[in-house]
Amino acid sequence: MSFSESNPADTRRRWIAAGTTIAADPDATVDCPVCGQEKLAVQVVEWPDGSKVDLHMTCPNCGARNVVTKQK
Ligand SMILES: [Zn+2]
Repeated sequence: MSFSESNPADTRRRWIAAGTTIAADPDATVDCPVCGQEKLAVQVVEWPDGSKVDLHMTCPNCGARNVVTKQK
């Protein structure tokens, strides 16, 4: 899948969808919302108090990144 046009609203919608999918299952494979060329790599980082986790999503192809915070 490839995204030929870069409409910021569409990109934002895809990030939200990616975050929702990955929050539900950090092992899910999600296409990069920006370039569509690669699957997002996910790094799970626990908060110091252990109440939440940050899910860092990074594209190995274009370097796009975003973070979604998930309640444990
Ligand atoms: Zn990308």
